[in-house]
Amino acid sequence: MEQKKTNQTVLNKKKEYYLENKSKILEKQKKYIESLNEEQKNHKKEVRQEYYAFNLEKISERRKERYNEMITCNCGLEVHKPNLERHKQTQKHFKELKYLKQSQTLIPGRSQTLCMASGGPA
Ligand SMILES: [Zn+2]
Repeated sequence: MEQKKTNQTVLNKKKEYYLENKSKILEKQKKYIESLNEEQKNHKKEVRQEYYAFNLEKISERRKERYNEMITCNCGLEVHKPNLERHKQTQKHFKELKYLKQSQTLIPGRSQTLCMASGGPA
């Protein structure tokens, strides 16, 4: 608890320091970059490009994964997760939702049975 508080204070102090000395820090960074020779600059650039390329691969992979992730909408249809919000605006969604509501009113005992089944001893 005490440790956490101290960390927070340090973080705040750092933030404060940064805000107060922002221009100084930026100036220092600029000077540091200027002080590097071409080789060092190029090396830095290369490292950054490599890092970027590596991350880009990871990011696009993650994005693909997320895109392929399926989620079941409350209308009962399975949709791609990123498309869920868009799907909720479609006629298809409203139609399914309407149909679902109708079928639920037609079979009133259905939800209750489901509740009992899941609540019983394993
Ligand atoms: Zn839906």
